[in-house]
Amino acid sequence: MTSTHKQVFVQVAIPTPLRRVFDYLPAAQSNSAIAAGIRVQVPFGNRQVVGVVLGTSAESTVPENRLKAINKVLDEKPLFSAQLLQTLLWAADYYQHPYGEVLATALPARLRKGEALDKTVQYWRISNPDTVEEQLTKLGRAKRQKELLQCIAEQQPVGLQQLQKLGFDRALLKKLENKDLVSVLEKSPDQDAGFEVEIGADRDAIELNQNQQDAVERINGSSGFNCFLVDGVTGSGKTEIYLRAMEKQLKAGRQCLILVPEIGLTPQSLQRIERRFTCPVVALHSGLNDTERFDAWRAAMKGQAAIVIGTRSAVFTPLQNPGIIIIDEEHDSSFKQQDGFRYSARDIAIKRAQAESIAVILGSATPSLESLHNASLNKYSCLQLEDRAGQAQQPAMTVVDVAESHLDHGFSEQLLFKIEQQLNSGDQVLVFINRRGYAPLLQCQSCTWVSECPNCIAQMTVHARPPSLRCHHCESIIPLPTSCPDCGSSQLNTLGAGTQKLEQFLQDRFGSIPVLRIDRDSTRNKNSLENLLDEIHQGKPAILLGTQMLAKGHHFPDVTLVAVLDADLGLFSPDFRGQEHMAQTIVQVAGRAGRSEKAGEVLIQSRHGSHPSLAQITQLPYSEYARYLLEERKVGQMPPFSHLALLQIEATQQAAATDAAESISSLARSLCTGNIDLLGPYPAPMEKRAGRYRMHLLCKSRARTEMQQFLSRLCQDIENSRLPRQVRWSVDVDPVDMI
Ligand code: ADP
Ligand code: ZN
Ligand code: ZN
Repeated sequence: MTSTHKQVFVQVAIPTPLRRVFDYLPAAQSNSAIAAGIRVQVPFGNRQVVGVVLGTSAESTVPENRLKAINKVLDEKPLFSAQLLQTLLWAADYYQHPYGEVLATALPARLRKGEALDKTVQYWRISNPDTVEEQLTKLGRAKRQKELLQCIAEQQPVGLQQLQKLGFDRALLKKLENKDLVSVLEKSPDQDAGFEVEIGADRDAIELNQNQQDAVERINGSSGFNCFLVDGVTGSGKTEIYLRAMEKQLKAGRQCLILVPEIGLTPQSLQRIERRFTCPVVALHSGLNDTERFDAWRAAMKGQAAIVIGTRSAVFTPLQNPGIIIIDEEHDSSFKQQDGFRYSARDIAIKRAQAESIAVILGSATPSLESLHNASLNKYSCLQLEDRAGQAQQPAMTVVDVAESHLDHGFSEQLLFKIEQQLNSGDQVLVFINRRGYAPLLQCQSCTWVSECPNCIAQMTVHARPPSLRCHHCESIIPLPTSCPDCGSSQLNTLGAGTQKLEQFLQDRFGSIPVLRIDRDSTRNKNSLENLLDEIHQGKPAILLGTQMLAKGHHFPDVTLVAVLDADLGLFSPDFRGQEHMAQTIVQVAGRAGRSEKAGEVLIQSRHGSHPSLAQITQLPYSEYARYLLEERKVGQMPPFSHLALLQIEATQQAAATDAAESISSLARSLCTGNIDLLGPYPAPMEKRAGRYRMHLLCKSRARTEMQQFLSRLCQDIENSRLPRQVRWSVDVDPVDMI
């Protein structure tokens, strides 16, 4: 329907679960053209909400008299560049998530709530500069007022902060204002600005080896979009390559965006970057409060921050003048958001680099099979570093079969002896176990009771401080029972061991040697991780005991022995990526050993010591094992040789979940085209979680575009179908967590 007069309709993305954009009439008193990427406040239902303009159109499918007008335009200029907006909309389409929610994810909370981007600051100036002398005389004996007027006359326009520094206060200023001698003007505190950069002296202390030099030349010699996969064993000098690539961009006044897996990695990476470059750096991570996050975001957007380093969601940070994006430890599953807007920060980063026409570097010692596959198809340029930088050697790995051995708290005698030996010769030892808490289970000796979570089909973990049972899936906590809830017996035993129990055991056994436990619980408080890392870096004999957090990116030059306590945890995983993840973890943990002049050794304990996977992981270079896994994936037609999308349907009642899954499945089957396979619906491997029963429907296809079109139609149809209110559903494209 076309209107007779030239009515413009504004398309607005609003944070709601509905997968569509909404048309509005322009704001009543607005006369400027409204651009995509500007925030607006609009009436929505009976509320006022903040949305983002996506564009304008001369037509609307809704009759004009039923449309509401924009209430308020919140920004002068777009918050998102065309390139970033394009990336975000691509992500919304690709991950089947509503535009409004995707755009809201990309904004810091304060902007989501509608606050202004620029807080204006007040400045004072002389009202009538020609008659200052006269005014000074008129002020007569008001000495302080005269001094203030004089000061403003000399420094105008001058802000309150500056005046306060000089010893004047607000009240005095008010007096001059009341006499009309000075006037206020409001302006933004800063204009868009660039930055300065200085290169640290540590740069010239390092002479790049041939592999590094080649890699740096390839990256710095490229122009426009290019995706580089830096595939280099741990300690091979990947970070040094990133730093040289950043240097080129920074010197040209362009910003660098660096994504790292977890906050655990940030202190060291951050220190290294700050040592190399003296320039404004902002770090974005979950520990920031709303104001800190807003300030960092704004500095990046305004082009004041030279380097932005952050975890997953930092991929959405606006950059005024982007130069390069770097994703360190690209294989890490923390780059995948597992709920809500289920995106892969790595894949979005690549799309973004494409939209911005810049280079992106993926780096890892254990690249994901997806990335290796893309490199073999020449979609990525693969840069290999096969040797450790400097003097360091790759550690030797040995599998210790403990099927027949007596274990003390999970340690074989052989391992305990080895640990003692290393500590005696003044070195550090790293013990890896991927299980936090005190013990994975509490059980009754007199009956069959075990500590099960009331909300999940899962066991609750025993924690020592405070004594409690905790579910690691739904976070519920209950006090540690002193007697069996079923039979009243006081004979309750813990089964198995987590980091807390092992900490106690190792402390008892090795007395004066410090045991430094690093897991999510011991590093919850601000600075606790940094303090632990500082202690490790003093280099005194110590046992480093921890989970995944220890495996990631750290450089521990004094660790000479790494013990993987229970490799079996990964050996029989139901997840098709289980073997890949286990290999990555073992190689990464092993990579913490022998990173300097001291040689390293890695012992891997397993009850299935002759399992072929363990032999391959320990004897082959990762890249060869990865090739073998890729062959397996090809035979099974699993990713990266096919694409997956996982529909999850959940409800508080089991029957409701099954019924909804059935009806969604029949919708899917009616839309399904030739190249798409549907599996299920079937109960999720963890059938109940956080009080909800969960069903899965898995879609698999070799044709990505066809799959995307199918999913998009399916999501619309599910949205339009009337599912009972207790039912929730979600779609996860390229899922990582299938449990
Ligand atoms: P990665 O990121 O691959 O784990 P790093 O860049 O952290 O490797 O390098 C490991 C160690 O080797 C660091 O201490 C680094 O300063 C040092 N290093 C890197 N490149 C060289 C080089 N060409 N010569 C000597 N030392 C180097
Ligand atoms: Zn009992
Ligand atoms: Zn639970």
